[in-house]
Amino acid sequence: MRSREAATRVLVLNSGSSSLKYQLLDMRDGSRLAVGLVERIGERTSALVHTPRASDGDGKRERTGRIADHTAALEAVAAELAHDGLGLDSPELAAIGHRVVHGGLRFSAPVLIDDDVLAEIERLVPVAPLHNPANLMGIRTARALRPDLPQVAVFDTAFHTTMPEYAARYAIDTATADAHRIRRYGFHGTSHAYVSRRTAELLGRDPSEVNVIVLHLGNGASASAVEGGRCVDTSMGLTPLEGLVMGTRSGDIDPAVTFHLKRVAGMSVDEIDELLNKKSGLAGLCGDNDMREIQRRIDEGDERARLAFDIYIHRLKKYIGAYCAVLGRVDAVVFTAGVGENAAAVREAAVAGLETFGLAVDAGRNAVRSDEPRLISPDGARTAVAVVPTDEELEIARQTFALAGEDRTLIS
Ligand code: ADP
Repeated sequence: MRSREAATRVLVLNSGSSSLKYQLLDMRDGSRLAVGLVERIGERTSALVHTPRASDGDGKRERTGRIADHTAALEAVAAELAHDGLGLDSPELAAIGHRVVHGGLRFSAPVLIDDDVLAEIERLVPVAPLHNPANLMGIRTARALRPDLPQVAVFDTAFHTTMPEYAARYAIDTATADAHRIRRYGFHGTSHAYVSRRTAELLGRDPSEVNVIVLHLGNGASASAVEGGRCVDTSMGLTPLEGLVMGTRSGDIDPAVTFHLKRVAGMSVDEIDELLNKKSGLAGLCGDNDMREIQRRIDEGDERARLAFDIYIHRLKKYIGAYCAVLGRVDAVVFTAGVGENAAAVREAAVAGLETFGLAVDAGRNAVRSDEPRLISPDGARTAVAVVPTDEELEIARQTFALAGEDRTLIS
């Protein structure tokens, strides 16, 4: 007989167009039972890297060989999990949580997936052509393997649906905007939600009392203004192209640059799309999109790398200033994701000169490397500056379990 109390595990799936990332979490304590990644799905040499009990990294297994599609990828993952006694058929598995990039206006919270939800995610493909089809593939595959198991979609856009209309609308013709669902949706929402909540905890306050500017600086990068736990503005827009300077994306530009490239440079729409999404940002400016490499080049006196860094920081400062104005009172500015968590020089430069906003960084605290949430501002600072490592998988698992788990008291 299956024990109902025993179903405490959540499998989190994040499917990209040619990849599948997964984590199996135990919701009793949020620990990882396994993490892994399938890459180059559909190509000749696909690779699966599986790490049981990621916390100590022991027993990592890798295998290469063609994995034809997402179904084969999930089957391979299921086999790896079964090898460790954690198979998809295990009674301990409570639910599967899927990262879904675009939830449009309808999904302001996670949902249990049914045919109607699938149809709506499909309907949103025109506004998320790169991401939603891959996410759908992952969901369909998982449902085919375990049709009886609750599956939950957790949307990157959901946290931003609280934005007021004046922040979400672009100042373009309303009928055209409405006909084509053009508005600011925002992305990285799971990270902004998690990090803003953890920041309130770090300050020892309730999220409803705290105003936070979250700077999610990874390869993709976005800022958000969070007032009392609710997002009131964010830098990404209709797509993840708008806002901050990113690894390969331009962020904000004059939209007329695109007509200019078409009319004067003779580029096609697809070429412009590729230029702005894949060949711009730090990579476009200096040839490198990795902040570690850029810092190394700056240390060697490389001028292009220096200018790329300065452009990146200038944009970041503009968003910090803008969101100070949007929020009025700011309790914390928090850095997260690969660059935000690791690049002390970025944090220092982004806050330098903003003392009149109550912002400062303590050099000693900023230099400390840690996986823990921490304050890097001096004691007594009017506005806290913090580093809070993001954990999108834990947040997806938490939201999935809250909706589908049998013993929801575990995640309170
Ligand atoms: P994403 O999930 O958007 O792919 P991440 O949040 O993992 O990205 O961030 C990846 C980026 O983090 C890398 O491209 C690199 O620029 C940056 N990064 C990682 N480690 C460091 C480090 N020690 N110092 C500076 N930058 C780092």
